Amino acid sequence: MKNFAYLLVVILFACQSKPKETSNMVSVSILPQKYFIEQIAGNLVQVNVLVPPGSSPHNYEILPSQMKDLAKSKVWLQIGLLTFEDAWKEKMAETNKEMHIVNSSEGIVPIAGSECEEEGHDHGHDHAEAFDPHVWLAPAEVKTIAQNTLTALKANFPEHTAIFAENYSQFIAKIDSLSAQIDQKLAPLTNRNILIFHPALGYYARQFNLKQTPLELDGKEPSPKHMKAIVDLAREQNIRVIFIQKEFDSENALQLSREIGGEVMIIDPLDYDWEKQMLDITEKIAAQK
Ligand SMILES: [Zn+2]
Repeated sequence: MKNFAYLLVVILFACQSKPKETSNMVSVSILPQKYFIEQIAGNLVQVNVLVPPGSSPHNYEILPSQMKDLAKSKVWLQIGLLTFEDAWKEKMAETNKEMHIVNSSEGIVPIAGSECEEEGHDHGHDHAEAFDPHVWLAPAEVKTIAQNTLTALKANFPEHTAIFAENYSQFIAKIDSLSAQIDQKLAPLTNRNILIFHPALGYYARQFNLKQTPLELDGKEPSPKHMKAIVDLAREQNIRVIFIQKEFDSENALQLSREIGGEVMIIDPLDYDWEKQMLDITEKIAAQK
């Protein structure tokens, strides 16, 4: 009898109809945004990252297989300044009218990109972004991104508002302490110039009072003339380190490092563990004397 009662319970549970599945999927453009969302939402939402590790977020093309997860998402949190986002925004508006599209950079004062100004706008060819899109690499801007992320999460998952708000406060406190730590680590630095292959640290440089000189211009390999100017600058200012992104295997950076007798340091702007990466970048900058 006891066994029978147990069996009955099992059957009852098994037969209970599943609650209707509502999607808790959120799409983001790049991996660090997954980190930001998880700081605020923990595992209450499922995060779909569009640009896979190793790909460039600048000219990314969404795969047909990614459309399914994007279409299932309640909201797509964009960086808001990446070219591929614009192209897909229109396509998504046709296929998934329900999905909200949020610009995470709303409120950030953007840094102008390096497009060819003399030709003006709309000249057809694929030039660099009008604005520097690397907003996620500066704690000050990430505070704005976090705030926009919180607003979007609350709007789409109002049932978790209290948890989101509490986690958000903790995340903001963490970002503030990170900024203070970076300030402190960079304080002794007398040479505040950094050489970098791809100009990913514009917002970081703005926040921490550094000057970034890119090797690449408009997303293209540097010309011999530009290389020569950089070698001269590096010698003049005694710069010995060139930063390069994990994605790039640049012969130019290596050649340059040989010419200035310096070394190439690898950074990973698309790292999931954003806080660790920010500290790692800082250590590498602080290490150049
Ligand atoms: Zn970039």
